[in-house]
Amino acid sequence: MTEDRKAPKLPVEGKRNVLITSALPYVNNVPHLGNIIGCVLSADVFARYCRLRGYNAIYICGTDEYGTATETKALEENCSPKEICDKYHAIHKEVYDWFNISFDEFGRTSSPEQTEVCQAIFKKVHENNWLSEDTLQQLYCDTCKRFLADRLVEGTCPIPGCEYDSARGDQCENCGNLLNPTELKIPKCKVCRNSPRICDTDHLFLELPLLEDKLQKYINEMSVVGSWSQNAIQTTNSWFKMGLKKRCITRDLKWGVPVPHEKYSDKVFYVWFDAPIGYISITAGYTRDWEKWWKNPENVELFQFMGKDNVPFHTVMFPSTLLGTGQNWTLMKTISVTEYLNYEAGKFSKSKGIGVFGNDAKDTNIPVEVWRYYLLTNRPEVSDTLFTWSDLQAKLNTELLNNLGNFVNRVLSFIAKPAGQGYDSIIPTVPDDVSGDSHDPTKKFANKVAAYMEQYIESMEKVKLKQGLKIAMSISGEGNAYLQETEFWRLYKQNLSLCSLVMKTAAGIVYLLACLLEPFMPSFSLEVFKQLNLSVDTHLSLSDDKGDVDRVKRPWDLLSAGHKIGTPKPLFRELKDEEVEIFRKKFEGSQADRVVRAEAEAAENVAEQLKKTKVSDGTEKKKTAAKASSSGTKNKAAAEPEITITRLDIRVGLIKKAEKHPDADSLYVEEIDVGEEQTRTVVSGLVKYIPLDEMQNRKVCVLCNLKPATMRGIKSQAMVLAASNADHTKVELVEPPSSALVGERITFPGYEGNPDELLNPKKKVWETLQVDLHTNEKLEACYKDIPLTTSAGICTVPSIGNGTIR
Ligand SMILES: [Zn+2]
Ligand SMILES: [Zn+2]
Repeated sequence: MTEDRKAPKLPVEGKRNVLITSALPYVNNVPHLGNIIGCVLSADVFARYCRLRGYNAIYICGTDEYGTATETKALEENCSPKEICDKYHAIHKEVYDWFNISFDEFGRTSSPEQTEVCQAIFKKVHENNWLSEDTLQQLYCDTCKRFLADRLVEGTCPIPGCEYDSARGDQCENCGNLLNPTELKIPKCKVCRNSPRICDTDHLFLELPLLEDKLQKYINEMSVVGSWSQNAIQTTNSWFKMGLKKRCITRDLKWGVPVPHEKYSDKVFYVWFDAPIGYISITAGYTRDWEKWWKNPENVELFQFMGKDNVPFHTVMFPSTLLGTGQNWTLMKTISVTEYLNYEAGKFSKSKGIGVFGNDAKDTNIPVEVWRYYLLTNRPEVSDTLFTWSDLQAKLNTELLNNLGNFVNRVLSFIAKPAGQGYDSIIPTVPDDVSGDSHDPTKKFANKVAAYMEQYIESMEKVKLKQGLKIAMSISGEGNAYLQETEFWRLYKQNLSLCSLVMKTAAGIVYLLACLLEPFMPSFSLEVFKQLNLSVDTHLSLSDDKGDVDRVKRPWDLLSAGHKIGTPKPLFRELKDEEVEIFRKKFEGSQADRVVRAEAEAAENVAEQLKKTKVSDGTEKKKTAAKASSSGTKNKAAAEPEITITRLDIRVGLIKKAEKHPDADSLYVEEIDVGEEQTRTVVSGLVKYIPLDEMQNRKVCVLCNLKPATMRGIKSQAMVLAASNADHTKVELVEPPSSALVGERITFPGYEGNPDELLNPKKKVWETLQVDLHTNEKLEACYKDIPLTTSAGICTVPSIGNGTIR
């Protein structure tokens, strides 16, 4: 990598020069597997393939950092947009590093090069008169002194019959209709909650209709030359059918490339205009001679990878911008588009946090080559595909382990066996009495491999990556069949010469597989090379001029006789049903849910710790403990309301039904009436302490405003209060008097106030208060010295005095 930095690759005349980009991921989120397969991973496979073929290829990507979403996120997190970008750029980079993505440059759009290139392009387009001016009406917040981005406005949905009161400026989440923020009834600024007013604002527009002829000509030619996929052509045509419209290229924002135009100097470029220019500016960060890549259409082929939602930006908008300059740009030749990868039951969603995210993959301990393999076999090339854990398990266990891993391991471990049983780790010499050309099974096998090899190259040239992978795997399948057919273990005793031919041929195929699979699973290839005791740079070149492709026709000659191999080891590990179950549960619900769950667990640990340290019930100590546990959050939460017991919504509930959790031995699942229209589902870890029949049809104290948390797949919507003794060997439910009303709130005389709608888990309200909940000697449940009180009297426990409550 550092080597490359010193000498960036430049196009070489007479060579095939390939410039590869993947859609720039938007910076303010952690990428999920759908994003990874849709863009960066697919482009990486192609880039690696190009290098294998000896093409002069570079792969350029980076984070797209400007725009409303970053500004909004910065407002939310109370920091600068730059800080948001720094933070998330690093996260993206780490995820892609883990996935072995071989960028030649992974940059960012918030760079000086971006400003320079973007402004230069704008000036040319402006000079050439492809721009126009128009006035838009936008919401302006007088308090915040800014025009409000669509997502910074909330109001009542204007759609008759919907009238949802927190519709977003760009879309109503309730009815799904796309909206214009000025259409909202009673709009509100999301930052200050004041009502914005409609205000005129002038903007610059790119006149796409005037550029239509040039654009149509480019598309007609290039879609054939670059064999654009059907989904790319269809999406593009639908834009033309609807008629091209002028497009606004400026925005009333601060976080972006400033518009170099006197009248618009307080505005920035709209992201769709500046983001694709990022490909160019990031290349400019890679080499000062970037124009040799980008203004060299005769010698450079541009391949761009993206998800289907990005197509019009790359087939219509970006080419229009470049055509508008009148300069000789390298325009996209081939576009590779993916549909969506869905997750288990639904869509991967960044905003909802559904699915497996780049940083989660690492935590599963499933090796990266397995992730890459699974995502690539499932690449949504022509239609949406589905990610499921059981499918991942099936592909790993049958294809990687039983087919590929088994083949490689069988061959290498047999060669590694000591003389008398194997070849003492030495690639055997093929004696003169046998040859691959005259041994029928070997000859047939070699022919098949050569045919697959041709198909592999053909598919990969057309960016049919999934097919390329499948063909490479077929070679491994043929390898296994060859071993079975020749019965090498029998030959070893009966015809050693022939056995040597078979093993030398099979070892050659192991080497070939390590090369062909390198674009898909570089870490796998590395390991096979290690086991073969070969340096990676001795890999087979698939370039046409080296003759290696011809060598494949004689696989028995691929490795030299006498070469000593390394130590064979199993390459893949089986994924067990139990593990799959654990992952499915672990990644259930949204990422936000998971954070809450993790926090709840952490809080439990803290409570556990506190219990251990305060065996005596001295209230002084408890207070200290309470302070200690909340002091960490106190400063930050200065503006937060004080943490008092009234913020808890504890009610008298009636357990209507209780049963054991289907997936967890220690948990009960109860349906509890807390005075609402419907019962709430509550998960409690009480199995060890309270028999199931004692859980039925009884009144309990229920904490109703905890943030729901999913426990082993079931969402718990409240918590039943229980007391436990000092060493936690005994647990009892806190009981309201039998005549207490179901649904009535439990009060603490002397404390008045309404409960929070929902306790913010980050503020640790419950955890702080919990420390002072206990039972006294009289078996009364108390907060400090105040009993939990209902209209029918106070709440008690049967036998645990001086216990803790939680
Ligand atoms: Zn405001
Ligand atoms: Zn609506």
